[in-house]
Amino acid sequence: MPDDPIIPIIEGDGIGPDVTRAARRAISAAVETSSGGRRRIVWFDVPAGETALFRYGDLLPGPTKDAIREYVVALKGPLTTPVGGGFRSLNVTLRQTLDLYANVRPIYWLPGVPSPVTHPERLNLVIFREATEDVYAGIEWERGSPEAKRMIDVLEHQFNVRVRPDSGIGLKPMSEFGSKRLVRRAIRYAVDHGRRSVTLVHKGNIMKYTEGAFRQWGYEVARDEFADRTVTSDEVLRSHGGKVPEGRVVIKDVIADNMFQQLLLRPDEYDVLATPNLSGDFLSDAAAAQVGGLGVAPGGNIGDAIALFEPIHGSAPKYAGMDKVNPTAEILAGVMMLEHLGWEDAAVRLREAVKAVIAAKVVTYDLARQMEGAREVGTAAFADAIIERFHGA
Ligand code: NAP
Repeated sequence: MPDDPIIPIIEGDGIGPDVTRAARRAISAAVETSSGGRRRIVWFDVPAGETALFRYGDLLPGPTKDAIREYVVALKGPLTTPVGGGFRSLNVTLRQTLDLYANVRPIYWLPGVPSPVTHPERLNLVIFREATEDVYAGIEWERGSPEAKRMIDVLEHQFNVRVRPDSGIGLKPMSEFGSKRLVRRAIRYAVDHGRRSVTLVHKGNIMKYTEGAFRQWGYEVARDEFADRTVTSDEVLRSHGGKVPEGRVVIKDVIADNMFQQLLLRPDEYDVLATPNLSGDFLSDAAAAQVGGLGVAPGGNIGDAIALFEPIHGSAPKYAGMDKVNPTAEILAGVMMLEHLGWEDAAVRLREAVKAVIAAKVVTYDLARQMEGAREVGTAAFADAIIERFHGA
């Protein structure tokens, strides 16, 4: 790691410029103050989304992808995707073209953030969601299209499966390779970070050869590659009298719909989750809501070489350019990025400053409207309050 890495940044659409500008100031200040000025980030603006379309006639210009490939770590703001037509999600395209197969979402509560549950502090998860396969692979055909008709015909005549002729068709591919590399990353993380368990989330009771296989492949990775660091929940009961052997990560599995209620009812029994693409998308938003909502939840899109960090929320176009929304999720995406760079000091400093500012009830509208006695500030002023903490103000 150089002391002055070049980091491409996509500002994004809607509120993207507001939150990324606030975040990059806070991240830069954390890096510089924690290293006594020795380190700094050289931000490299790269276009994507509506601005890129307007300026270059391309939503995701080749040089943007090349820059991320070359500099391997990048930060982005949210990008707009139209519903039910138009172009495919740029986020999905980025994940697929750069092979960012693990969507990683740490979900923990920041003291003071209003939450709909009684004990938000009991939830402290890292969700590893597979991000290139499943029904998000983008293999689908519109109702009435020649492709959909042909698929329906093949299903009826070659597989004896009847599908209504007015159906749209989508496919759900889930491979052993794709599932295993995701679970491997989740287990590696749990082992390296002293986490207690990895839960394989699946809907294998219904979709046996995709979701069921995900569960089976997950257990195989644990058994074949982490035998001396893991133990299954069955083995804990059968061979260890219900007590987890020292230094072992417990591997267990839960059916996806049950997982939603488990997170509400017994959140402290879960630690790292490994999920297929669709259920992971739902679960991580639901879990984020439990600790205060999308405005405070970051995510990382991580492949074997490249990592791209972002907030979970979208571009909320109605607030664009108003200096109003919460930049916390984008800033915490920066914390994940700093951890990924190995700049732990800066990461801790930044996260603690965010916590302190929120605990002092200096917050943006989304939190202010749910808190007693809060001082409401705009996006930029929230970042200023964080930076002031670094200078002991
Ligand atoms: P959204 O942009 O996340 O906004 C939904 C609501 O969440 C907002 O109206 C606002 O609630 C709240 N919110 C979101 N970000 C916030 C922030 N930083 N601070 C405070 N409140 C925040 O979701 P959407 O309206 O469904 O999606 C809009 C566009 O974003 C779509 O084109 C979608 O495809 C795209 N999107 C992109 C990404 C990504 O780039 N990774 C992710 C999700 C969605 P209130 O109105 O209650 O204040």
